[in-house]
This record gives sequence, C-alpha cells and structure tokens, in this order.
Amino acid sequence: MYDVIVVGLGANGSSALYHLAKAGKKVLGIDRFAPPHTHGSSHGQSRIIRQAYHESPFYVPLVQAAYEIWYDMERISGKKLLLKTGGITMGAPDADVVTGAIASALEHNLPYQLLDHKDIQKRYPALKPTVDTVGVFEPAAGILFPEDCISVFVEQAARNGAAIHTNEMVLEIIRQRDFIKVVTNKQTYFTQKLVLSTGAWMNSLLPDLQLPLSIERQVLYWFKNKNSAAQANVKPDNLPVYIWQSAPDELFYGFPDLGDGIKVALHHFGRPVVPDELKDDVTGEEINRMQGIVEKYFNISPEFNYSAVCMYTNTPDEHFIIDHHPDDERIIIASPCSGHGFKFSSLTGKIISDMTTDKPVEFDIQLFNMARFAR
Ligand SMILES: Cc1cc2nc3c(=O)[nH]c(=O)nc-3n(C[C@H](O)[C@H](O)[C@H](O)COP(=O)(O)OP(=O)(O)OC[C@H]3O[C@@H](n4cnc5c(N)ncnc54)[C@H](O)[C@@H]3O)c2cc1C
Repeated sequence: MYDVIVVGLGANGSSALYHLAKAGKKVLGIDRFAPPHTHGSSHGQSRIIRQAYHESPFYVPLVQAAYEIWYDMERISGKKLLLKTGGITMGAPDADVVTGAIASALEHNLPYQLLDHKDIQKRYPALKPTVDTVGVFEPAAGILFPEDCISVFVEQAARNGAAIHTNEMVLEIIRQRDFIKVVTNKQTYFTQKLVLSTGAWMNSLLPDLQLPLSIERQVLYWFKNKNSAAQANVKPDNLPVYIWQSAPDELFYGFPDLGDGIKVALHHFGRPVVPDELKDDVTGEEINRMQGIVEKYFNISPEFNYSAVCMYTNTPDEHFIIDHHPDDERIIIASPCSGHGFKFSSLTGKIISDMTTDKPVEFDIQLFNMARFAR
C-alpha cells in the first residue's frame, strides 16, 4: 500500500512526486511514457518564466515562490535550470498584455521599465517594433529548460525514495472505502491518496467527472538567422524572452537563439486535438505564416530550421485547476496549464504535496477550484 500514487510525471507530477518523497511519504509515480518526453505539454527546450503577470496579479506571489524552488533545485542538482535574460511584453499601449503586465508590476512592486519603439530597437536590434509599439521590460524574466527541470524532479524524487514506473499506463482508478485501486496495463496498486496530473489526458481517467478542458494543438518553430553579421543580436545577451501582441488577433512569444535559432510560437489560435493523435504534422502553410511574422517583426533573415507540436490543456477561464476531487477528498486533480503552467510547476508540486498530506497550503489558490465551473 502506498501513501500516495502520482499519475503523470510531467511538469506538475514530477514536481509533486519530489515534494511528496521529500516529505517522507511512500510514493509511486507512474507515467505512460518516460519523462521528459515529447508527447505531452512539457517539451521544446524552453519555457518563459516572468513575474509581471499580465494574466492577473493573483499569480505574482505564486511565481515568486516558484523562482525560489527553481533555485533550490539548481543547488540540489548542480544543473542550470533557469537562465535570466529579462523579458519584454510588447503591444499597443492599451493592449491587455501591456496594461496587465504594468498592473501586476505596480501591485507587487516589481521592477520594470516602459520602453517606446525607439528604446526597444536601440536595446534589442533584432526586434522591429512598429511606431505604436511599447514594451514592458522586466529584468527578472527568463528561460526554464523544461526537459532538465523534469529530469531533476524525477531524479531527486528517486533519490528521496520514490518508486518510479515509466512506460506504464494507468487504465482505471477504482475508489474503495479504505484505499484507492490503480489499475495499469501491467499491475494493480493500492494507495491511500492519489494525485492525477495527467495533463492533456486528464479526462480519460475521470469518466464521471468530465472537466471542461479543451486540448489545443500548438506549434513551436525555430528559425536560424542567415544574416551572419547580426548573429550576436539574437543571442540571450542581446535578446530577452518576448511576448508580442502584434495585432488584436495575433499574439506570439519566443526566445533568443540558444543554438538552434530563435524560437517563436503563436499563443493559442491552435486547433483542437485528441491527445493520443498528436503528431508532427506541421504544414508548409503554417511554417510560411510564421516565417511571415518573423520577417515582419525581426531584423533577421530567417531560415526555417525545425518545428515541434505540443498541447495546451485549457480551462474556459484559462486559470488552473488544483483541487480535491469533488466526490473524494483523497484525490487531487491538478491541471495547472492553460498554456502558462510550466513556470509554476516547481511550486504547484509543493502545493499538491501539502494538499495531499493535509498540510495547510501557504498560498491563495482559490482561483483554481473546480466549483467555479458549476456556477
Ligand atoms: C508550446 C507550448 C509552450 C508553452 N510555453 C510556456 C511558457 O513559456 N511558460 C509556461 O509557464 N508555460 C508554458 N507552457 C505550458 C506548460 O508547458 C504546461 O502548462 C505544463 O508543461 C503542463 O504540465 P503537466 O504536468 O500538466 O502536463 P504534462 O507535462 O504533459 O504531463 C502529463 C503526463 O501525464 C502522463 N499521462 C497521461 N495519461 C496517463 C496515464 N493514463 N497513465 C500514466 N501516465 C499518464 C503523460 O505521459 C505526461 O507525461 C507551454 C506549453 C506548450 C505546449
């Protein structure tokens, strides 16, 4: 009998497994693949971490605590997980991403600078903002390396005594009075508590509780800069992470060149996808569209290098789900995604661990309850 079984060892589950093992629990983590892998939501070399949270100031204390745990994990593992590059959020002065970033910075006293299009161009010669563009620069922002983050959590969980079963798929959860039965394609396990952190597959193990989640296909693109004279401009020293509301219906974001070219992607605007059917099916049309955006907004000569597909698991209001199962307190349902969950995962694992072990959660996570969907 386990104290806790964690199903799904992606960003959130691997972190939860680590925090639970560290808390001394007898834990088993199960994943249908071998994390880190490319079948879910946590691959693609880089994730943005930032504090001037345009989505809502509610997230700022959470992300600040997440930074501290990322630094802890760097110390514990000796691996570089977070590269601070600064970050710039751009758009028209009244764009939601711009006003939202400023609102969060003001409410939480975060250092930031408001730049006009000339300042932006001078500081970041790779960027080509239109005259009506402004940018909110925050020095604390940077890049997380998601595959390394997950590897570190899995390794450290094992080091703290967690059992880890990969390439094993959970098929069914059977709730009984004294324990929960977890049936996989290989074995049956018994546990007191259960964490479901199955990302895009969340509803497959909750047949009675279909959560209002929509799975959205997202494409990541890497473009090399053919202009060799301007190579330095796309490197992390001269190009921060960026979020750009370039038109009311066009929002993209990206990263400096970490070796394979700049990485860019649209935020949302993807089509629905069934998680088991996700495949590398990026079309020439999609690549051309992104190349057009890069040509328009960057002073580089882009050459398509490669692409990858990934999934967002979206709630209707794009806030996370971290809550107890409505019919069974022993089960924690964790879907902190909606396309912006990675940066928090060091902390969400701790929160999940505290909820599972009946410790008080030190953070306000009201926004993430499931009752809101019933309203
Ligand atoms: C293209 C893209 C860009 C993003 N950019 C950012 C960003 O810049 N910053 C940011 O903060 N966030 C970003 N996100 C969001 C963030 O990456 C996700 O919110 C986060 O990775 C989700 O983690 P997860 O643990 O919920 O899911 P996952 O990491 O996908 O983990 C779910 C795991 O469950 C396993 N599983 C599923 N079903 C079963 C089963 N039945 N049995 C056993 N195992 C099972 C899967 O194999 C998988 O390993 C981005 C996401 C994408 C796709």
